[in-house]
Amino acid sequence: MRRLNSLAALALSLWIPLNPKPAQAQAYDGHPKLVVIVVIDQFRADLLERYRSEFKGRGFNLLLNEGAWFPDCYYNYANTKTAPGHATIGTGAYSDGHGIESNEWWDASRGYAHRVSSVEDERYTLVDLPASTKDLTGASPLNLHASTLGDELRLATQGKAKVFGVSLKDRAAILPPGQSANAAYWLDDASGRFTTSTYYRQHLPAWAAAFNSGDRLAAAAHEAGATGKGNFSSQIELTSAANHYELDFAQALISGEKLGQDPVTDLLTVSLSAHDLAGHKYGPDSESEHQMVLGLDRDLDRFFAWLDSAVGLKNVWIALTADHGVAPVPATAAALGIDAATVDLKALGEQLNAALSAKFPQAKGSFLLPGSDLPYLTLDRRVLEAIGIDEKTAEDSLSAALPEAVAKLAPPTPKEPVSSRLPPTPVVVNSYTRLQLEHGELPPTEMGRELAHSYSYHGNWYVFLMLGQYEMPDLHSAGTTHFSPWSYDRHVPLAFYGAPFQPGTYRGRVEPVDLAATFASLLGVNQPSASVGRVLTESLKK
Ligand SMILES: [Zn+2]
Repeated sequence: MRRLNSLAALALSLWIPLNPKPAQAQAYDGHPKLVVIVVIDQFRADLLERYRSEFKGRGFNLLLNEGAWFPDCYYNYANTKTAPGHATIGTGAYSDGHGIESNEWWDASRGYAHRVSSVEDERYTLVDLPASTKDLTGASPLNLHASTLGDELRLATQGKAKVFGVSLKDRAAILPPGQSANAAYWLDDASGRFTTSTYYRQHLPAWAAAFNSGDRLAAAAHEAGATGKGNFSSQIELTSAANHYELDFAQALISGEKLGQDPVTDLLTVSLSAHDLAGHKYGPDSESEHQMVLGLDRDLDRFFAWLDSAVGLKNVWIALTADHGVAPVPATAAALGIDAATVDLKALGEQLNAALSAKFPQAKGSFLLPGSDLPYLTLDRRVLEAIGIDEKTAEDSLSAALPEAVAKLAPPTPKEPVSSRLPPTPVVVNSYTRLQLEHGELPPTEMGRELAHSYSYHGNWYVFLMLGQYEMPDLHSAGTTHFSPWSYDRHVPLAFYGAPFQPGTYRGRVEPVDLAATFASLLGVNQPSASVGRVLTESLKK
């Protein structure tokens, strides 16, 4: 005590504060309390610039004005779908590294009863759903073959870091946080409740059960203006009330699991799914999309303000990105004169079956497995193996039949010159067999690199079909989709907020894989096991 008193006296005499305030977080802070990765499902980066002047508060503006904003972020692969996109965000790798090439696929090792989803895992079950729920098939990251940023954080802290994922979709909750996540939570569409799988835990924690049994779902239905009976996707998910509901669940998780409350950095990934459903239905250029973006701006403002009060934004690093972009609605593009044709996949399948039947008349059964999901056309190898045809012959034959089969779906060419623009005509730009993708028999171009990044093996024979720009399958309703190597499907936002980042707009190509690489470097952990990302040093404070 005497010693302290004399130190105090000395400090007073020298005007040295005894409890100096911590240095302002100007320099890089290696240990944030919480890292939050926000993913917007199906969100093209240009939408942020299109509606930027209408943003209010500290929603998108927190990242655009107070953070490091990369407006030119493009996926460097060709299979722009939800599951591979979310796996890429977590792992900093593409499909050739993380193993997820599509949302679902025919897996020869798991039989031909149905296509398996990227996270479906019958060894587990879903938990705490109403007794009326028929399908309790569980889910896990079984197909994810690379570690994530969350896994590396868990490894580096001997499991002390807490890592969670949230989404309305199972794949978008499970894939970003990775194998070692404490838990992932997603929505059961029929009941509107959040669930998880016994891969993570046997029952929901008390805070999640309380969220489910409270009045939050009724409030979401009211906010969405839902009137009749129906599931979550038909009643709520097409409105921004779904984002609000999901972010409230994320807040309940942060509070319930005490994320960001101790010196060990925790990680949460939140994938906002509502944009995808509404985007598919109405398209990126619709007034509905405009209102969804503004609604999300308000929801993010509320969420970030809550984070500030609960954890303190100075202790939080945030990243914002998306799992893929989207094409304009074909009719919208075609009205401007762009050759945005649609392809009737059923008719295309019939043309291809006819061509292969002519080549292999001894075969019995359909050559293509049902439910073609572009860019992949999957052969039924059993039909071909039964008549002694090998994979190369089969895939080469399918590939060779594609240009003529697609051309037969085109409108007839007029015999005389016409006085107005002709309707769009589908074209095959190129096609690649699974064997060509596996062996890297690809053009030495940027496109060749994208295709190489898209490859993963699931035991079947297939051909990757590349249609012309702005072309897509006929969706049989107003709407659009994403699946292609074209830039509109690959263009997503990338932005960071937090102490290490120098606010500003950073133009020039970057990739979503750079997110995990940058955070790994700043956190002082290994980059994920298959990471190919670059540390975005240009955006870091000196
Ligand atoms: Zn998606």
